[in-house]
Amino acid sequence: MAKLTIGLTGGISSGKTTITKLFTQHDIDIVDADIIAREIVVPNTYAYNEIVNKFGNVILEKDGYLNRAKLRQLIFQDPQLKKWLEILTHPIIIDTIKQRIQQAASPYCILVAPLLLETNNQYLVNRLLVIDCDRELQIERTMQRDNCSLQQAENIISQQLKNSQRLAHADDIIVNNSDLANLEKQVNKLHLAYLQLVPK
Ligand code: ATP
Repeated sequence: MAKLTIGLTGGISSGKTTITKLFTQHDIDIVDADIIAREIVVPNTYAYNEIVNKFGNVILEKDGYLNRAKLRQLIFQDPQLKKWLEILTHPIIIDTIKQRIQQAASPYCILVAPLLLETNNQYLVNRLLVIDCDRELQIERTMQRDNCSLQQAENIISQQLKNSQRLAHADDIIVNNSDLANLEKQVNKLHLAYLQLVPK
């Protein structure tokens, strides 16, 4: 079990995936909350069966997997339904995250969780690493990566926490306003610092 857990969070296109890959190059185990959120609703899991019971087959793709876009759309229009889904899935996601942290074999591990602060789950980690990135760059990178409009990128960002709100909770900060070489330098420095912080 890793003796130190670092939470990694940041807004859309702030660089979570890119930075995670750089930590992986140091053989650090990654626990990814988004991947787990998808895993716990694959066909025939408890949460999947509950969701299909509630919505019927209209919520399914042809291959039997959940139509996540449709589900997102339905709960966006109905706060009570959103609450119902959260009460069903959040405890399972949290339990799975805890298990994966237990199983991590590297000296420290990283929990990547875009909504760590929004869901009040900071208690899962020992330290919080927040990615800071200029809003204009986040918009530019989102438009490029997702091939979406300026309006769409701005809408997503305006629904998220402000970077300043995340930074208020940060123990460590990576500023991702420069190139990949600069990012790599910041990750290498943090990696060494985290190794020092691992309890003996
Ligand atoms: P999301 O919140 O949508 O999951 P993310 O925080 O994981 O995004 P990434 O996918 O790592 O962000 O980065 C968004 C895009 O910006 C990607 O296309 C990535 O290659 C690019 N990018 C990230 N950091 C840099 C950088 N320092 N220089 C150039 N491109 C970058």
